[in-house]
Amino acid sequence: HLSDRLQTVARYIQPGARLADIGSDHAYLPVHLLKRGLIAGGIAGEVVRGPYENAKREIEREGLSGQLQPRLADGLFAIHPGDQIDTIAIAGMGGNLISTILNAKPDALDGVNRLVLQPNVGEEGLRNWLMTHQWQIIAEEILEEDGHRYEVIVAERANTPVTYTSAELQFGPFLLREKSPVFIRKWQREIVRETEVLDQIERAARVPAEKVNRLKQRISAMKEVLSSEG
Ligand code: SAM
Repeated sequence: HLSDRLQTVARYIQPGARLADIGSDHAYLPVHLLKRGLIAGGIAGEVVRGPYENAKREIEREGLSGQLQPRLADGLFAIHPGDQIDTIAIAGMGGNLISTILNAKPDALDGVNRLVLQPNVGEEGLRNWLMTHQWQIIAEEILEEDGHRYEVIVAERANTPVTYTSAELQFGPFLLREKSPVFIRKWQREIVRETEVLDQIERAARVPAEKVNRLKQRISAMKEVLSSEG
């Protein structure tokens, strides 16, 4: 049984995909999809031996070794040319690490037409990476599970240059338009958190005015997003 978080990721993997799930741990995502005939096959990549062994065991237990291969490798180095991977999923890590992984081996992305990404933090930086590398965001989701909020970002190759405003990069172009209750809760909490930080640095000595102003701007941008009707 998949978590809501991974179910949401799974919904954006297209039928018949050849999937590379990078940082797969137990390989729950590709195993789930393969058991339901929703993907043709693929690989489960892991850089750490323990999680790699988890993936290997799960795949063998489900009798899926023919279609799904566990690989012990760093990021996209788990993908071999013969795998014919067309979709990459990277879930459950920071956005910064996700973009580092995507950056480290560009040729592994050659046949890939869809990225399904679930950053735990650092969404803004990840959107910026997508924009500057000609990936267009085609869908986004925000969900809440066990007291945590998660974003899922789905991207496809852009035919024309992509540009997002700073608000779209921070909040997500789709999430910003939708303004779901989970989205509103996320940014309300963020306003509270950053206002506390602002109070602290305003009381501290010798904080550069530029830093204070940047934070003030961020807080007012967040307030503006929450106050407008969308
Ligand atoms: N993707 C699963 C999920 O969303 O439930 C597992 C997420 S788990 C929190 C993150 C996994 O990413 C860990 O098992 C870790 O070993 C793996 N990981 C971190 N950096 C990696 C890298 N550079 N290449 C492959 N796997 C990596």
